[in-house]
Amino acid sequence: MQEAMIKRAKELLADGSVDRVIGWKRGEFAYDMTPAVFTSAEELDSEFIFDDFTSANVSKYLVKETAKEGKILAFLKPCDTYSFNQLIKEHRIDRDKVYVIGIPGGPKLDIEKIKAKGITGILSVKNEDYTLKIETLYGEETMPFSEAILDKCASCKSKKHVVYDELIGEDGDVLDSNRFDMVEKLENMTAQERFDFWRDQLSKCIRCNACRNVCPACTCENCVFDNPKSGIDNKAPADSFEENMFHIIRAFHVAGRCTDCGECSRVCPQHIPLHLLNRKFIKDINELYGEYQAGADTTSRAPLNTYTKDDCEPSIVHERGVE
Ligand code: SF4
Ligand code: SF4
Ligand code: SF4
Repeated sequence: MQEAMIKRAKELLADGSVDRVIGWKRGEFAYDMTPAVFTSAEELDSEFIFDDFTSANVSKYLVKETAKEGKILAFLKPCDTYSFNQLIKEHRIDRDKVYVIGIPGGPKLDIEKIKAKGITGILSVKNEDYTLKIETLYGEETMPFSEAILDKCASCKSKKHVVYDELIGEDGDVLDSNRFDMVEKLENMTAQERFDFWRDQLSKCIRCNACRNVCPACTCENCVFDNPKSGIDNKAPADSFEENMFHIIRAFHVAGRCTDCGECSRVCPQHIPLHLLNRKFIKDINELYGEYQAGADTTSRAPLNTYTKDDCEPSIVHERGVE
């Protein structure tokens, strides 16, 4: 796949269809693949990587990239295409300045799940017939691929691209995902149990802002958390109230726009399952206003952006028996 992607990128650069390419290159470690822009065939040959760790969603980077001159080639996995569409809908990306090549999605790997097995000093990770061969400073280790799958891939909602100019490889299908299972477990808890669950999780937050910075729904040029007069600006939380507020505010800000791309949870250094907050909103919106998938298209009005006389009353929350 990597070879085919580089070949096609070089063709599009050579014939002038695009003047740069966004994909991934190696970061500090062999498993640390980071989004990168390439402008020449030489750069593509020497640095472009597509492997089991190229999980980062490059859609958000296109906000800044399409503000520049020229046209960029973007390789998008199925989940990334939902973010891309949503950003088009919000007029944050200039569609005419992007050539989209749809590429197969994961499942991608989570290095933290490998490290959680006590494997350290990791030099490289190779997938051989769904057994991971892990070269370390202390010798070779193995583990099943299935035990190191990223959470966002384990509950993937769709292998189908919702937008592309061309595809490399086969397109997939919308999946019968299990993504709301944990939300249902939380709903079935008592209010106190649920509060304890979230306090336990959110108390680990160090306010590094990685979740906000990576989120394709968080593209405000002036974020409320960057305003020192907001009372909730960027700093380590002073108390549990501030710890909660950052997440509650962000969850409300992205409600109805979150595509469930899973990037917030993927990048959280404290392994807080942030996507569960957003999935609760998605599940509620589906139940209260009808099935809706943010990013599935670029034209439909989001349920929270429209009003009809048939909309449920706030009291419905109590009628549903939610504590
Ligand atoms: S990425 Fe995690 S630790 Fe950082 S601000 Fe978000 S929730 Fe907190
Ligand atoms: S809140 Fe999380 S899952 Fe939703 S769009 Fe942002 S990064 Fe993706
Ligand atoms: S947290 Fe709210 S204000 Fe800040 S970038 Fe996200 S949506 Fe915008």
